[in-house]
Amino acid sequence: MAKKKACKKCRIITNAEECPLCKSNDLTTNIKGRVVIIDATKSEIAQKLNIKVKGEYAIKTK
Ligand SMILES: [Zn+2]
Repeated sequence: MAKKKACKKCRIITNAEECPLCKSNDLTTNIKGRVVIIDATKSEIAQKLNIKVKGEYAIKTK
């Protein structure tokens, strides 16, 4: 199983080689905590983390 990666910029977690949001390939496997955002407009966590698209996100990356 491939290790999931998170975009350093958007923090979205993906299996792909590039970020599905910003198309960056600056991804990291060093994920510190994760959060699933289902409704970004209603989620306080999403607003705190500045997340606008639903998905699974890393809370922090290194
Ligand atoms: Zn990104």
